[in-house]
Amino acid sequence: MQIFLKTEEEIELMRAANLLVGKTLAELGKAIRPGVTTLELDKIAEEYIRDNGAVPTFKGFPNPYGGPFPASICTSVNDEVVHGIPNDKPLQDGDIVSVDCGTLLNGFCGDSCYTFCVGEVSEEVKQLLKTTKEALYKGIEAAQLGRRIGEIGYAVQSHCEAQGFGVVKEFVGHGIGRNMHEDPQVPNFGKRGDGKQIKNGLCIAIEPMITMGSPKIGMMSDRWTVKTLDHKPAAHFEHTIAIHQGRVDILSSFDEIEKIEKN
Ligand code: MG
Ligand code: MG
Repeated sequence: MQIFLKTEEEIELMRAANLLVGKTLAELGKAIRPGVTTLELDKIAEEYIRDNGAVPTFKGFPNPYGGPFPASICTSVNDEVVHGIPNDKPLQDGDIVSVDCGTLLNGFCGDSCYTFCVGEVSEEVKQLLKTTKEALYKGIEAAQLGRRIGEIGYAVQSHCEAQGFGVVKEFVGHGIGRNMHEDPQVPNFGKRGDGKQIKNGLCIAIEPMITMGSPKIGMMSDRWTVKTLDHKPAAHFEHTIAIHQGRVDILSSFDEIEKIEKN
């Protein structure tokens, strides 16, 4: 296991790739409403990413269990946890859709995910989304220089489980840089003293995947889509961060998305 620590110049390139992901997700936020299909969202995302001189890293991403990923974004609706494939089924009022997006720009990767509401969603679903987003920021806050990676998972897990939500354990956050997935793994669970020490130059994606009910999941026959076994909804929020100059720096951004959500 080799962790590639990044220079200040590399971190700025990563920021550009990640800000583009944030802007792409905001473009999708503008389009998400009852009746739109996830395939339409995929088209918007791919065009936007390519128009900005980048490549959608998810498209063609290899799968050890089946064919490569066919789209530019993952769209996971309701009980789909991660890796949902865009399709022609219209989103409905009350759905949630997690949109995970990755870019490659000037040799470095961006990776971020946001769970959007479609129309009006129930109070308990709102609570799931709020808690998952809070857990992401608690994980980020825990990623301080000199601490261990386990602090992040401990922060995410304790926050979500205290509210009765489930933490998916089969999928984890990750190092990121020239490749979308690098070492180390960043689980959303664990003990404070576990894992590698956090050093200046570390770039990681933190991505809690949190379920309303049981955290047990299953893989669908397309060999990509992961669903909750109890069919209760799941949320997924992800930021790419860098630890440098002794502090935590969030490279991706929800600012544009949240502006749209308020309107
Ligand atoms: Mg992602
Ligand atoms: Mg990721």
